[in-house]
Amino acid sequence: MQLCLAKIPIKGYNLIMSTKVSRTEAKKAIETLLKYIGEDLKREGLVDTPERVIKSFDTFYGGYQQDPKAPLQKTFRYYKDYNEVVLVKDIDIMSHCEHHLVPIIGKAHIAYIPHKKIVGLSKLARVADIFSRRLQTQESLTVSIAETIYECLEPKGVAVYINAVHQCMTTRGIQNKHSSTTTTHFKGIFTEIQHRQEFLALLRS
Ligand SMILES: [Zn+2]
Repeated sequence: MQLCLAKIPIKGYNLIMSTKVSRTEAKKAIETLLKYIGEDLKREGLVDTPERVIKSFDTFYGGYQQDPKAPLQKTFRYYKDYNEVVLVKDIDIMSHCEHHLVPIIGKAHIAYIPHKKIVGLSKLARVADIFSRRLQTQESLTVSIAETIYECLEPKGVAVYINAVHQCMTTRGIQNKHSSTTTTHFKGIFTEIQHRQEFLALLRS
């Protein structure tokens, strides 16, 4: 087993391993927002809502408490030459945009070409999941996943493709109900057009 030690925080993120805001304070903040929209906090249906919202936050934003490099710590040495693409398709992405705190829902497709080390395929999805559970833009999510895998596995290349619906576009602002956004990020030999085309062709197949 080789370790990929966390050298520096991933671009744009500072891991918060402990928080100075207590659960009680967080619940009070939700109560304030409910009052702001004109709700009656004593209404039966809302009695436990602040607690439920904070529990949801623990799920939605649990990625701040996890190191996205951790799933890639256990790797396997690969003795035979495998010089082809390993592609994991249709990884569910459920994130929230950092501008409006509304959902970003879509699919990620992650590929790498191994170089001596391989990793359990579910670990690639774990990396995507940890980053998803933080506030961000789709662009930064795509880059963070690719750079983390590239750094930890030291493969010949990494390609990440995400297609997602942003509820800040579909439910507010321009209210464009049918729009989706695609982002890609390529590292190593996937920056070469031939390998990039191979990746995109695999996605279509
Ligand atoms: Zn937004």
